[in-house]
Amino acid sequence: MLHRGATIGILGGGQLGRMMAMSAAQLGFRCIGYAPEGDTVAEQVSDDFFANRWDDTAALAAFAAQCDVVTWEFENVPVATAAAVPKDRMFPHPRALETAQDRLAEKRFIEGLGGRPAAYARIDSRSDLDAAVDRLGAPGILKTRRDGYDGKGQWRITSSRDADGLNFPDVPLIYEGFVEFEAEFSVILVRGQDGEIRFWDSACNSHVDGVLSTSSLPAGALIEGQVDEARTLARRVADALGYVGVLTLEFFATREGPIFNEMAPRVHNSGHWTLEGAVTSQFENHIRAVAGLPLGETRTVARAVTMTNIIGKDIATSQGHLAAPDTHLHDYGKAEVRAGRKMGHVTRLER
Ligand code: AMP
Repeated sequence: MLHRGATIGILGGGQLGRMMAMSAAQLGFRCIGYAPEGDTVAEQVSDDFFANRWDDTAALAAFAAQCDVVTWEFENVPVATAAAVPKDRMFPHPRALETAQDRLAEKRFIEGLGGRPAAYARIDSRSDLDAAVDRLGAPGILKTRRDGYDGKGQWRITSSRDADGLNFPDVPLIYEGFVEFEAEFSVILVRGQDGEIRFWDSACNSHVDGVLSTSSLPAGALIEGQVDEARTLARRVADALGYVGVLTLEFFATREGPIFNEMAPRVHNSGHWTLEGAVTSQFENHIRAVAGLPLGETRTVARAVTMTNIIGKDIATSQGHLAAPDTHLHDYGKAEVRAGRKMGHVTRLER
């Protein structure tokens, strides 16, 4: 168990790290961030911050030497960077990064545990894509295996002729059959150092242009009927990885049951509602887990909760939300406003 005043290091400097650092401060810990220079909004609420490249081994060593434990808020932290931190001081174990950074490895891992991803094919060449469209049909989605997020690095393919017009990216890719889903949801759990697992309720997630727009509870009968099966898979994933901290699995709710979409070895946008909507938030429980403290209750405290992302220039008028009852604004403090960029979120509760 970390002593009060101990130092937690966070790899990554975005809003997830910012909200983690705020929970760490609440629990009496110091926080040091590490991320390449940029709009690192976690820095604003951290005790110290290393603005260095992921491959700066001297800076990483200096960072790690000051931390009692290290965690991450960003799943694309290079595995070599994570390896610079002694494994017994890093939670979750970096094997979770290796699995989640490659869509192909992730899907194989999930299948090995009995989960059902969308039909997929590995694509290393144009002829692989033609063969995949023949075998799996169209429409489908071509995705980069690595470094994709918020719908980036994805191309909708409606026929093999679409691929002709595509500036075919020269990186490892995967083709996924299009899932005719009824709804989307995620399973978010926390696993402690003793292996105890707690789940939050699963919200219904809606996306616009591949980016999460809202997460709402209750999620409705269709999703509620699929949560048990999805949780069984999520528990297997967490146990197989010896996971410590918050883990997220995203699913498509289909007429044939839950289809695995992807996993995020971290706190997740679809869990931001837990800040006000659950007894213990995903951020607090992640810090509790990595610090070896008892986990907090995850129960939902309201009849209904809706979390809405504030994207791009809408942040300018976001304070207007505060006039509504039981409504809570989280502004991530980002200096640069860009179209499609997550700038904050607002959570509304009905008790
Ligand atoms: P991802 O980054 O892979 O989670 O994709 C972002 C969003 O695109 C998902 O939440 C879905 O709304 C949509 N999407 C991704 N893959 C598929 C698929 N195979 N079938 C249908 N929709 C998808």
